[in-house]
Formats: sequence, structure tokens, C-alpha cells
Amino acid sequence: MTEQLPQKIVIVGGGTAGWMTAAALSRMLAHRVSITLVESEAIGTVGVGEATIPPIRSFNALLGIDEADFMAETKATYKLGIEFEGWTREGHSYFHPFGLYGASPDARYLHHYWLKARASGPVPPLEDFSICNVAAKMGRCGLPSGDAASVMSTFGSAFHFDAGLYATYLRRYAEARRVKRVEGKVGHVALRGTDGFIESVTLESGERVDGDFFIDCSGFRGLLIEQALGAGYDDWTRYLPCDRAIAVPCARSGPVRPYTRSVAHRAGWRWRIPLQHRTGNGVVYASAHMSDDEALGILTAGLDGDALAEPNFLRFQTGVRRKFWLKNCLAIGLSSGFMEPLESTSIHLIQAGITKLLDFFPGGDFKAANTEEYNLLARIEFEEIRDFLILHYKATERRDSAFWNACRTMEVPESLTRRMDLFHAYGRIPPRAYDLFTATSWVAVFMGQGVMPESYDPLVDAHDMAEVQARLRDAHARIAKTAAGLPPHDELLTHLLAHAKRVA
Ligand SMILES: Cc1cc2nc3c(=O)[nH]c(=O)nc-3n(C[C@H](O)[C@H](O)[C@H](O)COP(=O)(O)OP(=O)(O)OC[C@H]3O[C@@H](n4cnc5c(N)ncnc54)[C@H](O)[C@@H]3O)c2cc1C
Repeated sequence: MTEQLPQKIVIVGGGTAGWMTAAALSRMLAHRVSITLVESEAIGTVGVGEATIPPIRSFNALLGIDEADFMAETKATYKLGIEFEGWTREGHSYFHPFGLYGASPDARYLHHYWLKARASGPVPPLEDFSICNVAAKMGRCGLPSGDAASVMSTFGSAFHFDAGLYATYLRRYAEARRVKRVEGKVGHVALRGTDGFIESVTLESGERVDGDFFIDCSGFRGLLIEQALGAGYDDWTRYLPCDRAIAVPCARSGPVRPYTRSVAHRAGWRWRIPLQHRTGNGVVYASAHMSDDEALGILTAGLDGDALAEPNFLRFQTGVRRKFWLKNCLAIGLSSGFMEPLESTSIHLIQAGITKLLDFFPGGDFKAANTEEYNLLARIEFEEIRDFLILHYKATERRDSAFWNACRTMEVPESLTRRMDLFHAYGRIPPRAYDLFTATSWVAVFMGQGVMPESYDPLVDAHDMAEVQARLRDAHARIAKTAAGLPPHDELLTHLLAHAKRVA
């Protein structure tokens, strides 16, 4: 059999998506195929994207990156979850923790026990049964453990980092593994006459880059997948109405709180993300309900240090590309679709795109069954995340603005309605093969936003009340003790950075 791999891979775009893709492919394939990345300094990158979720660890592991080296180079801090302030109602807050509820991995449906105990007397808040929540509130942090006997086996963490530095780091990594970078702006995309496959891209300088397989990482514009191939876009603004953001970094003040803050305002929300060298801030809003000037005012009033740059104004349309992969072109990153950064899912979707690409890597003949399976799975992933984000807006008690009234009363996708009904019935979260968010995440947001089930899982009644209460008491005490024994976040980071091993 002849060689099947496409021999020339061309990545268009050098933002987070382009360099993550280049790094992963260089690790897996650079000795077999040529990989070229085209990017334009004149166009630049979107320049935001600082918070991640736990699966990023497996991406770094795939690259063989040393965690301390990566954290030193990207000015990263640890993230144990997100605090949502004012989402349920003004003055209220709740925490969406990483990891699991309970003191051991087999207790992941602990909320059912908690619901049973709560029905017959006072119990501590559910949040106290999450090691990530308790540690985060104390400003403490640790590392996950594989030992199921340890409370730290229920711990989960991700990173806040400087996305620009991450792209630079991965560029170094990829170039050291034979990825060729070409500087310049693509002015023309040539399609093959016979089947409409992309043949080459030509830069404004006249330089032509030929390829067999093109990966579109060109950002919102979707230079190849949309402008050249016309894949189409499904607009989800009716479910997720925010369409503008303004971002600005400010000087850091005080020790790092190892979590992201998301503070709701009358027509959206604002974020605060602590890095080693600065704090990232942004405001997300719906232009139908708020002017740019008002949003900028909310952003600047919320800074807790001097602004370090001019505000970066961004416009977006929430939605998804109808085809992620069309002919010999795959879209990864913002070119494939975008949902607002409420749960830090965009960098994860880049990672998920790369992982699926490796699972469905094409032969040079790009068989349709392979491409279609990729498209199907990617769509499911996007829709699951979309539903999770919508829940934050739908399950609000806020009545203080037209924006929140519209969110509270909007029609949601049928897939989310089914989930909400099931949770309401028995507090159940259906396990789904491609669901990124665990039961802990869904329960945290449901209950955090005041959606309480009518009942708990009937199987919990196989345990009598004394046993249920004893389990909860034990978990509560072990979690509190473990959290108190963890080092302060900044101490852990200083210790870790002192042991960084240079990789990229
Ligand atoms: C307000 C906001 C906040 C966000 N926060 C988060 C977050 O906290 N967490 C998270 O996971 N994600 C976040 N994201 C998403 C995140 O920023 C992106 O997923 C990530 O940066 C990837 O972007 P990209 O590489 O796809 O596109 P871009 O960064 O836009 O890169 C596009 C690349 O294509 C190149 N290019 C474009 N056209 C041409 C051309 N004609 N010729 C040559 N090169 C070209 C550009 O030069 C650039 O290199 C956020 C996004 C927004 C809008």
C-alpha cells in the first residue's frame, strides 16, 4: 500500500489555535510530513483568552510539557473554578468548582445524599463538600492525586495564563520540531477546478504556499472555511445574546485568588483573571441593551489596579460553523465558531478539535465518512457547551433589566429543556459520551442559580438517614482538614517555579 498521509499540511493563522495545532502535529507527525504555518503580524491575533479548564493538562501532557516550565513561561496561576456573583440575583454568589463533590471519587453523586439529609434538617452548604471551593476561598492550592484514598483525588485544576505568551511558547516548541513559519498576509486562496479542494494560498508578497491539507486557524474571519469554501454559520445569538466585549489588563494587587471571578451586570457580566504579573479584566455585554461607553465605565470602575494597556474592543457573533471540516480544510479555533468566554471553553474547543483531528486523521483522499463523523462529534461538543452556557442566563431570578427579563423568559433548546426537567425531577445529570462538564459542574450551576430538584435519586433511600448523615459528616471534616493543610497559592507557585525544567 502506498503512503496515505497528506504530505503537505498548511496551517493558516498563528494565534492560540494555530500554534496549538502546529505544536501537536509537530509532536506527532513532523518527521513524516511537512508542516507550514502562515501568519500575519500586521493582522495580529484576537489578543484575549486567559482562563482554561482542567483538560488543558492532558494537552500539555500530549506535548510532553513540564508544568512548571509552562507556568513560568506563560506567567500562569492555578484556577480551581469560577465564582459567579450576581447571576442568581444581585448580592448573591456561588462557586462552580473543578473536581468533584465529596471526599472520594466514588462519591461523585454526593448531591443526592446531601438533598436527602437536607430534607430532614440543617446541613452545611453543598459548596463545603468541594475541596476546590474550600481551598479557593482560603487562597490555598494543591496538586491532584491519583490515590483514591486521598481527598485530593477529587481535586481538579486548570490555569490562568497569558495567551500571547502561550502562543509564543508553543511557537518555539513547534519550530524546534520542524514547523516552518511563513510571515505574510494571505491575499488569495486557489481552489482546484475538479473538486473545489484548496490547492494553495498566495500571500500579498506573491509567495505561494501549496498544500494537501489546510487547517484554518485564521480567527473569526474564517478565511478558508468560510470566505473560500462558504461552509455557512449557525447564529446562536437568540440563546446567548452578548455580542461585545472590552478587555484591559491592570496591575495586580495582593495575593492571587486561585479562581476566576464573573460578576453579572445589568446587560451581561465582567471577568477578573489573576496572572502572575497582572490581572486580566473584561466586560461582556449585549449591544442591544448597553452602549460601548456604559460597558467601558463598568469595566474601568471594576479595576483594582492601574490599567496597563488601552482597552481592546471586540465584536462577536455567537454561533457555530455548519461544517467544521469541508473537503481538505478543517477549521480550528475561532474560525470554527465562538461562544462567549463565560466558562472558558474556547481554548478547550481548540484542544478538542486537535484531539479529534488525531482520532480522525485523514488519508490523502479525504474519505467522506471520516470527515462527516468529525463534523457530527464536533457539533455535539459545541451544542453541549452551548446548553451549559445558556443555563447561566436562563436560570436567573433577576428582574432588574430588560436584558435579564429576556434571558429568564427565553425559549431554550429542547436538549436543555430535557436536562432541566430531569434535574428538576430527581436531581439527575445524564451521563453523555461527549459531555465536557461533569455532574459537579451542572449541579453547581443548577443549585447555585436556585434550581432545586423536587427529589433526589430514589436509590439513595437504600441507605438509612443515620448512614447518610455519617457519610456527609465524614466528607465535610476530611475536606475542611485537607484544605487547611494545603499551601497558600502563591507559596505553591513560587516552589514550583523554582523547579521548572526547560522544554520548549
Ligand atoms: C472577549 C473574549 C474573551 C475570551 N476569553 C477566553 C478565555 O478566557 N478562555 C478561553 O479559552 N478562550 C477565550 N477566548 C477565546 C480565545 O481568545 C480564542 O479561542 C483563542 O485566542 C484562539 O483564537 P484563534 O487562534 O482562533 O484566532 P486569532 O487569535 O484571531 O488568530 C488568528 C490568526 O490568523 C492570522 N490571519 C488572519 N487572517 C490572515 C491572513 N489573511 N493572512 C495571514 N494570516 C491571517 C492572524 O494573523 C492570527 O495569527 C476569548 C475570546 C474573546 C473574544
